[in-house]
Amino acid sequence: MGIQVYNTLTRRKEPFEPVNPPKVGIYCCGPTVYMPSHVGHMVGPVIFDVIKRYLEYTCYDVTLVINITDVEDKLIRAAQEKAMPIKELAETVAEDYLQNLRQLHVDTIDFMPRATENIDAIIRLIQGLISKGHAYQADGDVYFDVTTFPEYGKLSHRDPAALEAGARIEPSPLKRHPADFALWKAAKPGEPSWNSPWGKGRPGWHIECSAMSMRYLGETFDIHGGGLDLVFPHHENEIAQSEAFTGKPFVKYWLHNGLLRLAQATRKVGALADRDALEGLDEQQALKMSKSKGNVVIVSELLKEVSGEVLRFFILSTHYRRPIEYSLERVKQVGRGLQNFYRYFERYQRITGQSFYDLEPPKKRGPFEPSGTETQFLNEVASLRERFLAAMDDDFNTAAAIGILFDLLAALNRYADRNNLEGDGRTDEAKVAALRQGTLVLRELAHVLGLFLEPPRRETATSELSERLIQLLVDIRARARSEKNYALADEIRRRLGELGVVLEDRPGGTVWRFAEE
Ligand SMILES: [Zn+2]
Repeated sequence: MGIQVYNTLTRRKEPFEPVNPPKVGIYCCGPTVYMPSHVGHMVGPVIFDVIKRYLEYTCYDVTLVINITDVEDKLIRAAQEKAMPIKELAETVAEDYLQNLRQLHVDTIDFMPRATENIDAIIRLIQGLISKGHAYQADGDVYFDVTTFPEYGKLSHRDPAALEAGARIEPSPLKRHPADFALWKAAKPGEPSWNSPWGKGRPGWHIECSAMSMRYLGETFDIHGGGLDLVFPHHENEIAQSEAFTGKPFVKYWLHNGLLRLAQATRKVGALADRDALEGLDEQQALKMSKSKGNVVIVSELLKEVSGEVLRFFILSTHYRRPIEYSLERVKQVGRGLQNFYRYFERYQRITGQSFYDLEPPKKRGPFEPSGTETQFLNEVASLRERFLAAMDDDFNTAAAIGILFDLLAALNRYADRNNLEGDGRTDEAKVAALRQGTLVLRELAHVLGLFLEPPRRETATSELSERLIQLLVDIRARARSEKNYALADEIRRRLGELGVVLEDRPGGTVWRFAEE
């Protein structure tokens, strides 16, 4: 059936057919860099990183652009409060954002343009809009005239006539219509400014995304993403500016992710009653994590407690269009699920002598062609793989896909158990080869989600030295057992257990692991 995507513009799922295949352009609105990233800032980048990975796996050639807004009201205010130069604050916060993306393995972004580096392109776009009669000057400001764009409201499905009542519209006596929005703002004292045909000033927020997306992806491109809270006015305004300027459709598919909010806030209003229902924007907006509500969880703080991979896995465990219920407990619960994968990778290495991370996954989607005599097991693997791909084809349903990864993990463990692959079965080459083929599928599918790209880094408390000390005690215990000193062997096991280290005696020797929290 091919890939289907839910398009906010048409409010339905549509077959994904790029404008200019095999090329695909994706633009996702990035952060205004005025405060360290909170968890909500990571949702869009993780999702669009996976969408890019999946589309490339499906043989498209994808360009992903995420912008950085480094001139905006909130940033100017924050810099004034901190008595810090705007540029310095923007750079510091942008570096924090990039660092967090690296930790979450968001590494497929091709361009991260900044507004202040695209002022010329922004000015040209505004000049074009004025000369075509879609924008007007007023006291050094420039406004877009919404009455000249009859389709205004088509993305958010709002009636332009009703927009006057819109609470999120900035009032200004200079506007001809209350829904008109600023393309250029005249300089105020102490604000950053650039020369323009309308005097010194700075761009409005909306116009920068039109200028930067068209610069990298052309006048019509495939996917525009962002949080659900950006549909109106930000994305509505991007469409108006861009289409009024080019006379062409701006974006084919609009994909909006649900907002992240604190789980207990949800419980308070009883919205958990129907978790399957897609909630409307207003409710998500009321609950979302934001600085103004004082309910933010800073990513760099959270990453002291959990790894970037755990946070990535957590974000992908909800389908992208749904709101994500955040709590530290839920993140840790997801982290415990990940431990099951890490434990299997160790088991796989014990059986095959090969690291899971050395398996070379196919880069492109193709048929799974199992070989050997273990057809029943490999058919099970094949059907799980089909289900995974079907879930991803269905509007990138990573939540369902992750569920299927757990099913595949269980199938691999069952197969290893049933055939005693850590004991006598290990010499059965046909069975070990089948396990290897099944595990390669796990590697392939996890790769599409950007998971298990490299071995997890132990946190400081479980540094390399700790691991070597634990191994030393495990070796001493083995010696004690061989000398029939069971009292000492038991004491070592018990006291390691108190420290959260679990020993498992296996046919090939004792292995240890950290207990689940
Ligand atoms: Zn934007």
